[in-house]
Amino acid sequence: MTPAGAPFSGEEPLPAPGAFDAHAHMDIMGLPVDGVLAAARAAGIGRVVNVGCDLPSSHWSVSTAAEYADAYATVAIHPNETLLAPGGRPPGDPPHGGRLAPHTPSEVLAEIESMASDPKVVAIGETGLDYYRDWSPREVQREWFRAHIAIAKRTGKTLMIHDREAHEDILTILADEGPWPPYSVIFHCFSGDARMAARCAAAGYVMSFAGNITFKNAAPLRAAVEAAPPELILAETDAPYLTPVPHRGKPNSPAMTAYTIRALAALKNMPVADLCAHLQSTGTRVFHW
Ligand SMILES: [Zn+2]
Ligand SMILES: [Zn+2]
Repeated sequence: MTPAGAPFSGEEPLPAPGAFDAHAHMDIMGLPVDGVLAAARAAGIGRVVNVGCDLPSSHWSVSTAAEYADAYATVAIHPNETLLAPGGRPPGDPPHGGRLAPHTPSEVLAEIESMASDPKVVAIGETGLDYYRDWSPREVQREWFRAHIAIAKRTGKTLMIHDREAHEDILTILADEGPWPPYSVIFHCFSGDARMAARCAAAGYVMSFAGNITFKNAAPLRAAVEAAPPELILAETDAPYLTPVPHRGKPNSPAMTAYTIRALAALKNMPVADLCAHLQSTGTRVFHW
């Protein structure tokens, strides 16, 4: 049953204890937040972590989390946004808006750190390395990644990593900057194979899987799910991107985390309610909500 007024989520809600969306960009979705959260609730998704990629989206995440009980925030400069020099971005359609200029890197990082003290900021991210898009030189990305790691450790917040075709450098920098416990590390939109999942599991890193696990060509990603221990798994949408099957091609929305969670439960050969219980306890452990 879909409650009156909530957009149809396409499916029965998740069984108790339900779950949450560990990574979304409601600011980029451009829809009224109360409707997005209501649709998520109707699908059994009780919380949404909205992710900052630059200063404006980080501020948006923090103020939206202050306004809505079910919304939480992360703050960071996305690796694709780390280039300060004007003209550094190619023309086209960048996913996240806003150049850092005219601020200096230390001003930007100080602002991220001051936002991070807000109790509804649950992670520093998305930060990391993106070697697929080379909008920022790799050494610049690595510098910013290390600076975000330092902020995560100083503030005690979880590190939320964006890793695109940069597995080895990310693992090396994390090992370098360790030891990690009691700090938590999440690989958002986990994109490694079973071997990478085993390496992350050995280090205690959390793997957050997105709707692309349902894509036809994603066999290596599904093998990674099989290799990941249930207590190190999260589910996310990365909305409005990566819409899961059967809605591929439409904009994604936090309510659709439910599809990914059902697919994860099937791959883990586990009742959906049991996977939800794992997700909830991992969420409490890493986001401290
Ligand atoms: Zn990302
Ligand atoms: Zn994202």
